[in-house]
Amino acid sequence: MSHSSTENPLLDAKGLPAFARIRPEHVEPAVDRVLAENRQRVEQILQDNAAYTWDNLIQPMEELEERLHRVWSPVNHMNAVVNTDALRAVYNACLPKLSAYETELGQNERLFQAYQSIADGEDFARLDTAQRKVVHNTLRDFKLTGIDLDAQQKDRFKQIMQELSSLMSTFEEHVLDATHGWHKHINDQGDLSGLPESTLAMARKAAQDRELPGWALTLEEPCYVAVMTHADNRRLRFEIYQAYATRASDEGPNAGRWDNSPVMEAILALRHEAARLLGFENYAERSLVTKMATDCDQVTAFLTDLARQSLPVAREELAELEEFARREHGVSELHAWDIAYYSEKLRQEKFHISQEELKPYFPESRVLSGLFTIVERLYGIKIQEGGGVDTWHPDVRFYEIFDRDGQLCGRFFLDPYARQGKRGGAWMDECLIRKRTPEGLQIPTAYLVCNFSSPVAGKPSLLTHQEVLTLFHEFGHGLHHMLTKIDYPSVAGINGVEWDAVELPSQFMENWCWEREALPLISGHYETGEPLPEVKFQSLLASRNFQSGMRMVRQLEFSLFDFRMHREYDPKKGGRIYKILQEVRDQVAVVKPPPFNRFAHGFSHIFAGGYGAGYYSYKWAEVLSSDAFSLFEENGIFDTTTGHRFLTTILEQGGSREAMELFMEFRGRGPRIDALLRHSGIAA
Ligand SMILES: [Zn+2]
Repeated sequence: MSHSSTENPLLDAKGLPAFARIRPEHVEPAVDRVLAENRQRVEQILQDNAAYTWDNLIQPMEELEERLHRVWSPVNHMNAVVNTDALRAVYNACLPKLSAYETELGQNERLFQAYQSIADGEDFARLDTAQRKVVHNTLRDFKLTGIDLDAQQKDRFKQIMQELSSLMSTFEEHVLDATHGWHKHINDQGDLSGLPESTLAMARKAAQDRELPGWALTLEEPCYVAVMTHADNRRLRFEIYQAYATRASDEGPNAGRWDNSPVMEAILALRHEAARLLGFENYAERSLVTKMATDCDQVTAFLTDLARQSLPVAREELAELEEFARREHGVSELHAWDIAYYSEKLRQEKFHISQEELKPYFPESRVLSGLFTIVERLYGIKIQEGGGVDTWHPDVRFYEIFDRDGQLCGRFFLDPYARQGKRGGAWMDECLIRKRTPEGLQIPTAYLVCNFSSPVAGKPSLLTHQEVLTLFHEFGHGLHHMLTKIDYPSVAGINGVEWDAVELPSQFMENWCWEREALPLISGHYETGEPLPEVKFQSLLASRNFQSGMRMVRQLEFSLFDFRMHREYDPKKGGRIYKILQEVRDQVAVVKPPPFNRFAHGFSHIFAGGYGAGYYSYKWAEVLSSDAFSLFEENGIFDTTTGHRFLTTILEQGGSREAMELFMEFRGRGPRIDALLRHSGIAA
């Protein structure tokens, strides 16, 4: 179907998105056309064949899905990183059409029978493992789209899916608008005492961008985090905390303006209704069908057990912090907006190291080249900056990956800096998925998006160690996507991977940021080039598990909240969102946020992303990633044999086999939790 791609105004001749030419007015006609052509092709495929085979049914169906992805992916991406009213409008106009198309395919009885006939046929055993997985996953997905429902229920299911995709988009828009819809203008530099020079420069630029004198503090992550960590002015910390923690809600300075309350209720209600239609008790149960975890009790037990082991550690850490604030600073009660500030002071006292002091050693370009060197050594690949391609913003760079035989095997765009109109956080997304057709191989291509502070006043972007971890994390997802050797798009790279195993390659990569052998590669003072000095490295290492119990219980709080909220949904009682959150906090939290806190109203992962009833996946996969890394600890962190084994058993395999099977092949046994407890300082 590639013959039509050259006519498509959204793609360039090389098959990469023509970002500069993607105008909002092109989007809807292009989407309409690809949907219409796909519908026609599906009919044709079903009509043309009496007996169905991989070649006459599945291969062309994989092609059609991938083709739609190729058109939609850049639009979806640009909506997240260069959001405008015009793009948002067409994006939202397309969502119900895409949703309707997906549901129709999943409810197409003849198509289902055609796939089933292949699964039941004599030739099935002759398909390769990845092909059989494609058939298995597709049959499962038919069930999850309501193939077994009667006509009326099918209609209702389709309607629910359409509404959900719109609501999830609205949720994200509210968070984005609320984040960019608030700033604090400061005229008196005295109010900014404690803030590092880099934050002041950022705030001056933010003021200039708004044609204001002085400084402007925003809710963009680099600014928010810096104020919470360093601002001596407690009132200021409170103000920015309050603005941040009430985004898109009924509380705070913009109360009611972008309120997600009704959106959240509607999302929970519809997810529950859809799950019930499919015969599940609730949405949590539905969500586990595509995960490693076998049932809801297993997830709850896993999280509860981790909480039991972490809580004593977390309580001790908080007591230490409270005692420190009282003794050294005369502060008798720690509020939510004090925690990061005094934690940073305590960290300095204990380890003689501050995040700010480390930043000059982690200029973005050095971290990036070090990251490349590390993965080049581990996997025998080569990464080079490429050129001559369209991007969506002047800050964006383009890179190419070559495999050990010198063949181009992956490409990625890197969009590093925070800016207006760009969603917060960091993520990897698929631009192009690997596939092989008679015309050749399509090179998998990724978007890597971060929200680092941009270079200001001639200084390069300097990263905190936390941001270095983030970059490694997203790059791990990127490698999973780009180094795959699977040629069928629906199980290539991250596709078809159980969701609670998806964070394995990403969290796995973070480990190198703590290794003495790796630090000289990723650090170099931006003025002198000097790598991170030994004494600072030792302090960094010693501080690795600083407050790790508190961090652990916070993740468990999010995970349990998300899971319980979806599992316990009751149409008669509604979402009871903050009631459940409070119960979870009573059970596992050590830091109690104030009553105005509306954390859930900005929890995009679960309301707007794919983590609904699946936030626990981070911890679940961390068991796998820690345990996988422990083999490198045994064999050497640059051991090429172990690296090659990880490449071939995990990264290259994508979703072609079950995650547990792949893990066992890599590790030689099932996963154990010991390494996670050790890495996070919960157990020795
Ligand atoms: Zn991740």
